[in-house]
Amino acid sequence: MSVTVSIPTPLRPYTAGRDTVELAGDNVRQVLDGLVALHTGLKRHLMQDDGRLRNFVNLYLNETDIRHLASTATPVRSGDVLTIVPSIAGGSPATAEAQAALSHAEMLRYSRHLLLPEVGVTGQRKLKAARVLVVGAGGLGSPVSLYLAAAGVGTVGIVDFDVVDLTNLQRQIVHGTSMLGRLKLDSAEDRLTDLNPNVTVERHETRLTSQNALEVISQYDIVVDGTDNFPTRYLVNDACVLLGKPNVYGSIFRFEGQASLFHAKQGPCYRCLYSEPPPPGLVPSCAEGGVLGVLPGIIGSIQALETIKWIIGAGNPLLGRLVLFDALKLRFRELELRKDPTCPICGTNPTIRELIDYEAFCGIGVEPAYAGPEISAEELRQEMSEKGADLALIDVREPHEWEIVHIEGARLIPLNQLPERLSELDGHAEIVTHCHHGARSMKALEILRGAGFGKVRSLAGGIDAWAERVELGMARY
Ligand SMILES: [Zn+2]
Repeated sequence: MSVTVSIPTPLRPYTAGRDTVELAGDNVRQVLDGLVALHTGLKRHLMQDDGRLRNFVNLYLNETDIRHLASTATPVRSGDVLTIVPSIAGGSPATAEAQAALSHAEMLRYSRHLLLPEVGVTGQRKLKAARVLVVGAGGLGSPVSLYLAAAGVGTVGIVDFDVVDLTNLQRQIVHGTSMLGRLKLDSAEDRLTDLNPNVTVERHETRLTSQNALEVISQYDIVVDGTDNFPTRYLVNDACVLLGKPNVYGSIFRFEGQASLFHAKQGPCYRCLYSEPPPPGLVPSCAEGGVLGVLPGIIGSIQALETIKWIIGAGNPLLGRLVLFDALKLRFRELELRKDPTCPICGTNPTIRELIDYEAFCGIGVEPAYAGPEISAEELRQEMSEKGADLALIDVREPHEWEIVHIEGARLIPLNQLPERLSELDGHAEIVTHCHHGARSMKALEILRGAGFGKVRSLAGGIDAWAERVELGMARY
């Protein structure tokens, strides 16, 4: 009975530099006991005082985490390989850390870190040597990049191609009013280098795509996912799995958020959690559904925390765990995440071996949306003055949107109530539907035409186009 125990680099000082040790035993526990009897210095790294495995040490018997088997009671057979996988900082080679010496000014700047034994000079140098990619300089990317820069992460790469818009500032706190209309990259770079001039901001003014993602991500040690759409989220996940990079995940919607740390070498990936995206349109974006401004601050701060812990190797990472946050109840929940053996990219027989077409995978642009007849804002104004009450203007937005602003003479029937309220409409009247930007009113058109209403059009661009071009001075949102 001879089992091969594979020793990771950080533990080899305790095995006289050996990367494998051959041991006998009937089960995992006996093999481990044999290992620490032979190499006594290993014991405190692997086990607690009561002999239980430390929870930042994972053991894989061949390809399987022993937690999914019978834990340390799992039987072993001759020829098996037992691999010790400790949670360690990824990526920063010792030489880079050694080069990342701290100046006196940096010592003073980071003094509250240096006073923490878990960080100390060693951890601070690891932060300085680290290269972190933040995908998106929006709601999540703002607190992430601010805290990483403040903490002294040496290189922060940012991927973004958008400009700062007034509606961003309610939550995207890396940007300011003086930067309206400027590239988010310019704004973030200015703010981060003001916060900490020791930080190098690397700019990637591009949309991350299947063509460029591997090239961009390969330059970094760890990736923080601050995206707001499913194609980019799956793209970031897949690129990280293919490149073996950890991916710090966060997502937000209205009052709820999620966070985890995906690293396929040691645990599940995003596809193990959600193998497929929801159909397009089912989950509204923040632009449609809204988001409480402080929520990305909380979730993004968790992402920054996990990134920093990962770099310095402190504590228990959020690997294999999904944190759910409900802001209204102020409640955190934690779910266990397992690696899915049938996962198409990180499972035992992966079917995805290169980046795919993520727009198609997420069903975007595959099924054409309903395209009914439209009317422009200018034409609508003209027809309203000519036809008066013979033209029915139906606002299919929500009551709280009506409260913000509405068109005089319009009637509110929220889209989800429309199917039950068709009897309120005159089947022979000319109807124009409108919403905020034109998408929901097209769905309303589909419902009305399906129910036999013939003379129906949708206001192109919604009330926003009306406010921009017809009723100037009207509130916009
Ligand atoms: Zn997976």
